[in-house]
Amino acid sequence: MQTLRDLPALRAAVDALKSDGKPLTLVPTMGALHDGHMALVEEARRRGRHVVVSIFVNPRQFGPNEDLDAYPRREAKDAQMLAAAGVDILWIPPVNVMYPAGYATNISVSGISDGLDGAARPGHFDGVSTVVTKLFNQVRPDVAIFGEKDYQQLAVIRRFVADLDLSVEIIGMPTQRAEDGLALSSRNAYLSEEERKAALALPRALGEAKRQIEKGEPVEGALAKAIATLAAHGFDPVDYVSLCDAATLAPMTVLDRPARLLGAARLGKTRLIDNIAVDPA
Ligand code: AMP
Repeated sequence: MQTLRDLPALRAAVDALKSDGKPLTLVPTMGALHDGHMALVEEARRRGRHVVVSIFVNPRQFGPNEDLDAYPRREAKDAQMLAAAGVDILWIPPVNVMYPAGYATNISVSGISDGLDGAARPGHFDGVSTVVTKLFNQVRPDVAIFGEKDYQQLAVIRRFVADLDLSVEIIGMPTQRAEDGLALSSRNAYLSEEERKAALALPRALGEAKRQIEKGEPVEGALAKAIATLAAHGFDPVDYVSLCDAATLAPMTVLDRPARLLGAARLGKTRLIDNIAVDPA
C-alpha cells in the first residue's frame, strides 16, 4: 500500500493504477477505523477493483463548538488495517493540501441538506459536499462506497453527483453494528462505560417506533414515544427522531411509501446518530 500526502504523487499513482483499465473504487473516511469502515473496504475489494481509501478529518464539516480537535486520530493503526485489507493507496492529505491559502469555493446542496442533521449542524453538509467533490476530483474513482449509517450524507452525495453530472457510481452499504445493536462509530470511543449501556436506547427506540409505525399506529405518537424513551435514558438534547421519505428525506406523517426513521441525540459529550428502514408493506 502506498501512503500519499501530496496531489502530484496521488495523481501519478492513480494514473499508474488505472493503466490496466480496471475500475477504481474510493472509500472516503475520517479515520479511527472500525469494522463499519472495513466493511466498505471489503466490499470494494470483493468487487475486484483497485481500492483507494482516504483519511481526512475535514475541518469544514465541523461546527465551531464541535469535536474537531478531540476527534480520534489513529493514523498508524489505520494504515496497518488498510494494508492488511489489501488497499492500494491510502490518501491522507494535510489540511493545507485540501484547502490551500486562498481557497474560496463551496458546494451547497439545497433541500435535502436542510433538515435533520443539516438543521442541527449548520454548514455540515456544505463541508461534506465540498470535500467529497474534491476527493472525487483528486482520486477520479469509478465507484465510491459510503455507509447508510450516515443516511442523510449518502442522500446528499447522491443528489450532487446526479446534479453535477459526476461520472462516479455511488454505493451505499448497510450499517454495521456491535453485537448488542449499537451502530459502530468512531465517536463511540468518547462514551463512558455507563453511557455505552445507555446508548443502546437509540437503536432500541428506533426499532420500537419502526414496529409501531409498520403495525399502523399513528406516526406522531410513535415518534414522541421514541423521543421520551431517549430522554429517559439521559439523552439531552434529542435533536430529532423523524420519519422521512427514503429517497428525498421529506418528512412523512403517514407511512404510504418506503421510509427511513432517523434519530440524533447527545449523550454527555457524544452526539450519536442512527437510522433504519421502515417498510409500508
Ligand atoms: P466517517 O469516518 O465516520 O466519516 O465514515 C466514513 C464512511 O464509513 C462513511 O461512508 C460512513 O457512513 C461509513 N460508516 C461509518 N460507520 C459505519 C457503520 N457502522 N456501518 C457502515 N458504514 C459506516
